[in-house]
Amino acid sequence: MARAAQKILRVGGKRSKLVTSISSGIIGTVGADLGDCFEPPRHRDAEIFIWASTDNFESSFGKCLFISASPRLGGKKPMKFEKGIAKKYRQSIEDAFDVILDKGNDSHRDIAKLILDSKMHIRVKPVAEVNASGVTGLVDNGDTNDRIEDERLSIEEAFDEIYIAIAEETIDTGGQRGCEGTFVHEGRHAFDFAQTIASFSDADVNPLSLFDPTLYELEWEAHRTAGEYMLCIARDEYIEEGIELLILGREAERGCFLNEEGIRSRLRDNYSLILDTNPGPRASELLGLRQR
Ligand SMILES: [Zn+2]
Repeated sequence: MARAAQKILRVGGKRSKLVTSISSGIIGTVGADLGDCFEPPRHRDAEIFIWASTDNFESSFGKCLFISASPRLGGKKPMKFEKGIAKKYRQSIEDAFDVILDKGNDSHRDIAKLILDSKMHIRVKPVAEVNASGVTGLVDNGDTNDRIEDERLSIEEAFDEIYIAIAEETIDTGGQRGCEGTFVHEGRHAFDFAQTIASFSDADVNPLSLFDPTLYELEWEAHRTAGEYMLCIARDEYIEEGIELLILGREAERGCFLNEEGIRSRLRDNYSLILDTNPGPRASELLGLRQR
């Protein structure tokens, strides 16, 4: 910031000063109060520079004079794809993240950003290996347990330990919608696993704040977030799929809504999970984590 503020640019005959640069995205308006320029980042492929008139730069009520954007140095921050993934799959996945960042709600966007800013691994494998449309796990649980033992991991750092695998068939037959849906659902699992890893690495000083959800809780959150995403997109094919999966409901008066009753029955019938009597294993058991 201090270094950036040295930059001076002439815009329309006025001297302007670079106020700040943010690493990803802005929806701002020239002429707006400077404070209004700082909106939640939306796009990940540009670095945004905000310039203000030097006359009123010192005042927090300065006007935003000019907004410029340039591609990030070296272009997009690369996602951490495993080797050997066909270009068409990499492209679908990058497109899916762009749509999630653009159309998702705050929580979808926050998780997508955590994934993009981390070294979380992305795998694409035949469905015969993934055994589902997608799956989330640890790259190497021995390594993760060592880190939990030795370090305090933030949620951001914990994402580096995780992979999401998507089945080739999910993209081949489910298209862009299948790809987005899988990363929204599995992305929520990745976020919950990252919270679990972070809390386990902090367990010796913070034993009461241990986060270790059951499989029921993990699936409940992932299904809810997938349903909310379908409602955000609000296109027929997304809504119809949501209704078919019982994640969404539709009634004449209410329109489309998140179908909590439907999700509960789906978890019971398809996953054999029941909140009180059969909540399934905890995240730490699924991941093979040890408390420090
Ligand atoms: Zn799931």
